Amino acid sequence: MQVCVYCASSARIHEEYFRATEKLAIELVKAKVEVVYGGGGTGLMGQLADTMLQEGGSIRGIMPQFMNEVEWGHRGVTDFIYTQTMHERKSKFLEGTDAIISLPGGTGTLEELMEAITLKKLGQITKPIVLLNTRGFYNGLLSFLDHCVQEDFMGNGNEDIWRVVNEPHEVIPAILSATHTPVDLKNVGYLTK
Ligand code: AMP
Repeated sequence: MQVCVYCASSARIHEEYFRATEKLAIELVKAKVEVVYGGGGTGLMGQLADTMLQEGGSIRGIMPQFMNEVEWGHRGVTDFIYTQTMHERKSKFLEGTDAIISLPGGTGTLEELMEAITLKKLGQITKPIVLLNTRGFYNGLLSFLDHCVQEDFMGNGNEDIWRVVNEPHEVIPAILSATHTPVDLKNVGYLTK
């Protein structure tokens, strides 16, 4: 199985985020899951890559050339794909990956996650999307998405679109138990009055 992991570049975050990422990477290597990620050497990206490599796992970075030029790439990761644009990078994250894991992060992580959720809502992907809610990081976003549902900007039944777990050891079971049913675009409730 190959998963794409979206996560933070910031190094200034609480230690618990690093420890959760480390635990997740150990779980992924144990389960022989290959990782594709943004290729960064800092923050949770750096932690993810460090632990994957230490544990003998497989990790590929996908990074736009402009980030490589300013040497943002992880120095130990040898499997790299360089893209021309951020858009191309995001589409490569999804090529051939079986699931998406979103760890805490800033706008980069959030836009990657929102794109994946949107693609899944539009039936363009069916991969499981799992959010690791360390320190309740995603609570605000989840309550805003719930607000979108309450105000009828979105339909409900989103438990098939994304799953939320609190602990790293829950991530792989959430992926394995997810359904892959494509969204029925002919039957989207909120398009009619
Ligand atoms: P953020 O969640 O805002 O920290 O962004 C994480 C995402 O932003 C990554 O997937 C990258 O697209 C990009 N990014 C931002 N800063 C860096 C960095 N220093 N090194 C590598 N990627 C970065």
